[in-house]
Amino acid sequence: MDFIDPHIHMVSRTTDDYETLARMGCVAISEPAFWAGFDRGSADGFRDYFEQLTAVEPRRAAQFGIEHHCWLCINAKEAENVSLSREVISMIPEFLDRPGVLGIGEIGLNKNTKNEATIFLEHLDLAVEHDQLILIHTPHLEDKYQGTRMILDMLCDDSRINPDRVLVDHVEEHTIGEVLDRGFWAGMTLYPVTKCTPDRAADMIERFGGERLLANSAGDWGVSKPTAIPDLIFQMRRRGYDEALIRRVVYDNPAEFFAKSGKFVQPVR
Ligand SMILES: [Zn+2]
Repeated sequence: MDFIDPHIHMVSRTTDDYETLARMGCVAISEPAFWAGFDRGSADGFRDYFEQLTAVEPRRAAQFGIEHHCWLCINAKEAENVSLSREVISMIPEFLDRPGVLGIGEIGLNKNTKNEATIFLEHLDLAVEHDQLILIHTPHLEDKYQGTRMILDMLCDDSRINPDRVLVDHVEEHTIGEVLDRGFWAGMTLYPVTKCTPDRAADMIERFGGERLLANSAGDWGVSKPTAIPDLIFQMRRRGYDEALIRRVVYDNPAEFFAKSGKFVQPVR
């Protein structure tokens, strides 16, 4: 089955991963800007990173027939440095008109600090001013529930934000209900260490149905599995799910959400 991975950090993955993804049915991906495993020392470090996301990775993906899209921001971890964050945010508009840029992300919180919240709100201003979609990173483990509530409150307190143009990623059983109830799109991250397994994701699909629900691998430089979506497809087929529901979660929903940017390239098969 053709699928889209809406959240994967291919700058950290090998070219062999692109080939494997293509062989397994991946036709498009989107790559949010994120932490590189180390704190970058200057705004120029981010300029190079945005160049990589908007120019280098699309070429690498195209070799395997995969459409590459991306999101730009300074991530919540490095947002602790407010002055650096402001330099990066002021540079982002230079890149927003490039093909394949879907919006601002992945923004959010990491340790739920005041600085992170300040920079999160400044990213919302940037997204609104430039009419961009938003992709949200919610914190992991013990910080997830409180961090997700804080993020949803900040989004809902801003009357300029349309929840239908926001994807909230890394939802789990204790956060997914509120994300969907408030009208946002929700992304389940399949991950071997933290976050959720294909089995738990299938349970959430059973509970909440397929509307506004996406799945991603969040493959990055850490322990992660870029082919996690085929694992979910396998799990759903084992449970006897309708093919249309499977396709909705792994293809139709990401395509529908990305199309709101006006810049999503529908893969040609
Ligand atoms: Zn990520």
